[in-house]
Amino acid sequence: MDAIQGIGFDLDHTLAIDNHLERVAFLRLLKSVSSRGGRVLGTLSDQIDGIDRLLQRQRNGEFTIDEAVRLFAAERGLPNGDWFVESFREIAVGSVEEFLVSLPGVDQTMEELQKRGIQVAVLTNGWNPLQKRKAEQVGFRGPVLVSSEIGERKPSMAAFERLLHVLGTETRHTCYVGDDPHDDITGAQAAGLQTVWIDWEGRAYPDNVPRPTHTIRAFPELLEFVPQCVRAS
Ligand SMILES: [Mg+2]
Repeated sequence: MDAIQGIGFDLDHTLAIDNHLERVAFLRLLKSVSSRGGRVLGTLSDQIDGIDRLLQRQRNGEFTIDEAVRLFAAERGLPNGDWFVESFREIAVGSVEEFLVSLPGVDQTMEELQKRGIQVAVLTNGWNPLQKRKAEQVGFRGPVLVSSEIGERKPSMAAFERLLHVLGTETRHTCYVGDDPHDDITGAQAAGLQTVWIDWEGRAYPDNVPRPTHTIRAFPELLEFVPQCVRAS
């Protein structure tokens, strides 16, 4: 196996969990929907289901986060969603400090990778400034590539090519660490990278997608696959 010189990381559920902060930001907007003359129909549970479906469609790349917020407002009888777009962004980004929790060992592992001379970058599907704010909160020091800005989403090969460009490492000396078998592992392997599946939740790896190069249960296990020192090229 070729020695690792560069590592790309997924963000959500790999470096940190955000405790549904986008769902909560939408729920907080419901009060404004009522005060602005919109309709809030159904129970809280119905609202949560609707919001989660909307966020899932957005995460699948069907529309941008701003379009999701406009749709949310329009579905409740408020076709001009400008105010909601601004408010949603403000609430979501402002919630990061309170909601985001890093995975155990992320800090120390990143510090050790830096000592060993490993290049690191984040490649995440999501929107800015939310994802950059999350990376900052985790204490990640390195480039953060966000799909809304680079115009490419995982699992596309183009997204991983952008990552390789930023890391400046050869494909065979690079690995990608993520929790999603499809977007992270299949995508990175198709682009020729080594892969590390982080399974801190103890899930079963699906049968219908390529196996990762390595599986780890806790973040610091990553150091086992990384050389003690990388020679400057
Ligand atoms: Mg993830």
